[in-house]
Amino acid sequence: MIVKSLCLENFRNHKDTKIQFSDSFNIIYGNNGQGKTNILEAIYLCASGRSHRTSKDSELVLFGSDFYNINTFVLNSGLDKVINIKYLNDQKKQIMVNEIPLKKLGSLMGNLYAVIFSPEDLFVVKQGPGERRRFVDITLSQIRPSYFYNLQQLARILKQRNILLKNIYSKNGLMDTIDIWNIKLAEVASNIILERRKFAVLLSELAQKQHRFLTTDKEIIAFDYNCSFQIDENSNKSEISDIYLRLLEKGIDRDIAIGYTSLGPHRDDYDISINNKSLKLYGSQGQQRSSVLSLKIAEIELINQETGQYPILLLDDVMSELDENRQKYLMNSIKGVQTFITCTNAYKFSLENIAKYFKIENGSVI
Ligand code: ATP
Ligand code: MG
Repeated sequence: MIVKSLCLENFRNHKDTKIQFSDSFNIIYGNNGQGKTNILEAIYLCASGRSHRTSKDSELVLFGSDFYNINTFVLNSGLDKVINIKYLNDQKKQIMVNEIPLKKLGSLMGNLYAVIFSPEDLFVVKQGPGERRRFVDITLSQIRPSYFYNLQQLARILKQRNILLKNIYSKNGLMDTIDIWNIKLAEVASNIILERRKFAVLLSELAQKQHRFLTTDKEIIAFDYNCSFQIDENSNKSEISDIYLRLLEKGIDRDIAIGYTSLGPHRDDYDISINNKSLKLYGSQGQQRSSVLSLKIAEIELINQETGQYPILLLDDVMSELDENRQKYLMNSIKGVQTFITCTNAYKFSLENIAKYFKIENGSVI
């Protein structure tokens, strides 16, 4: 997977930026606040359909303007693809691939695979379950468009069911419809749960291989799926659906009392551990950083295993956070992966012979 070039119009502080990238390393450097991350954000948007920093498209529009336009030229399995994302204030953004408008955001997935790694990824370890679900959901959505559709369905069903729970006593007949929503919810949830369980096993195996090399004490990292209700390691789709349906029925009084659905994939978590001890509770800063690095490299490998292609890698400000050993390790692990590195000092890495350098100043490439 190669991003050949990028054209930005009124995207963040880029009024009119055009860049031709190198197939290997691209160093995007410059002082703080000049628009380096904005470039990675635009590329990531073309891969996943969303910004890694905001869910509001209006924030991406250049101050004082009323639209943004991104054109990315991608080489995907030898085929040229042009991904175009246009947003006009207060309208739904329009996405086109090779000039064909996409009816659903899910159809964008697979045109460009990208892994982004920024200092905020430490949140995956340090913060709550939402950060870990987001990490898995974004990767899984890229490689399985059906997963992305299921997530959208889940959000819709939960919204409807929660409205129902809040109004159940005030409107006649609502109680009769709850069964239908429970069945729909259990169907979609079981698809999501199966995918998450499989993903965690694969990611954990790949991260373990990485982490043993990265750590001098040969630490064992694990990334385990923690479903919001008890399922067996081998339960199949219909068993998971049945278990969840029974729990939904059993918990209906509680759900009505609190006014929302208390169990389900929206409450799942993942346990990240080192040598069987929770990384969040007991890991040192260094262990947490190394673990995130192992997970990210594992994510690249997983996308390659599942799709036959390497994703592009976006490294936002992480090189300066890694010590020399980890920097070397990362560089060795990503050979053959097109990489975009943002940093304030361009000459820190010995990549002068193979990398292309772009200096960014006030929303322009110098
Ligand atoms: P750092 O090294 O600090 O990470 P950076 O070069 O990565 O900096 P970016 O995050 O890419 O910086 O860009 C930040 C700049 O973009 C800020 O100056 C901010 O004011 C500007 N900016 C953000 N959103 C918009 C917008 N919608 N319109 C115009 N400018 C914006
Ligand atoms: Mg930045």
